Amino acid sequence: MSTDQPVDEPVPLVDLKAAHAEVEAEVRAGFDRVLATGGYVKGPETAGFEAEYAAFSGARHCVGAANGTDALELALRALDLPPGGGVVLPANTFVATAEAVVRAGLRPVLVDADPDHLLIDPERVADALPGAVALLPVHLNGQLAPMGPLLELAAGRPVVEDAAQSQGARQHGRALHGLVSATSFYPGKNLGAYGDAGAVVTDDDALAAAVRLIGDHGSGRKYEHERFGFNSRMDALQAVVLRAKLRRLPAWNEARRAAAERYHRLLAGIDGLTPPRTAPGNEHVWHLYAVRIGPGRDRDAVLAALQAAGIGAGVHYPVPVHLQPAFRQLGHGAGAFPVAERAARELLTLPLHPHITAAQQERVVETLAEALAA
Ligand SMILES: *Cc1c(COP(=O)(O)O)cnc(C)c1O
Repeated sequence: MSTDQPVDEPVPLVDLKAAHAEVEAEVRAGFDRVLATGGYVKGPETAGFEAEYAAFSGARHCVGAANGTDALELALRALDLPPGGGVVLPANTFVATAEAVVRAGLRPVLVDADPDHLLIDPERVADALPGAVALLPVHLNGQLAPMGPLLELAAGRPVVEDAAQSQGARQHGRALHGLVSATSFYPGKNLGAYGDAGAVVTDDDALAAAVRLIGDHGSGRKYEHERFGFNSRMDALQAVVLRAKLRRLPAWNEARRAAAERYHRLLAGIDGLTPPRTAPGNEHVWHLYAVRIGPGRDRDAVLAALQAAGIGAGVHYPVPVHLQPAFRQLGHGAGAFPVAERAARELLTLPLHPHITAAQQERVVETLAEALAA
């Protein structure tokens, strides 16, 4: 079939192929180095990445892990908290945050988000703190939770940061604010591996050593197992990819910021949506650009219209943790966390990645405006 109409290319939510094209030569050379030695687990590539990511994070230590959920679990286990102790985390997060708490033998204590930025709300944290043994704020969508107020409220309890969505983000110039942070290098994150990987970042020497021990079968010396552990290590091939991509990350985050600014401009004056906001003191890295649709609009109809037009919009996340069947045992019904529930109904993530073009963004916004006017 021939047509005079130009066919609009799809606009993907993320573009991992474009990112790969930039690092391909380095990645292939690095893979060759590893294949030549046969050292696939631990070794110099992983150690090299750990040192480079620690420096990038302004922290003393980075310990690689098999994925981000494990990294959170390792950080929590290394703290030796009392079994069954409450860990305060937001209800509006990816389910992994809560999974890690349960897997570490602790109890998730969910709290609601602040309605303006959808970050964990310090006022709600204050209500949940009695009885809690740790705080687990999530740096959602690429900006840090309000760490000043949270550290004050924590009053000495350890603060573990879920930094899976915030690689390169800063607040008042700093990335790490709590005792320890855990991140994920799932392919779609700002710094993504070619498979699963994660890391724990901390300034605390003893904690870093404990994380390394637990993630390597509790063993510092071959066949000596000092403490109960499991297997969660970053492999050498993932480290090769992450080293090549880390060199580009500042420029890629800058490109994300420019794309977010462009969305802000293009979306200004469009009825029926609210663009995302950056909280004071934050240098945002725009892991996700999520607008709120409504009130009085049908987010799912808008999502369907964008997808029908080939635009890879998404929803992060359609069901908050407390309403997931897997977390029924926490005993919260609908209405327990109204801000999180409203966010789940209203949020719509627009395509944003370092290689998105102005023309692609214009097409997204035109399609979105049409869908809202329909
Ligand atoms: C991706 C993610 C994780 C988990 O990371 P995995 O590497 O997929 O295990 C944890 N928390 C948040 C907020 C995430 O976005």
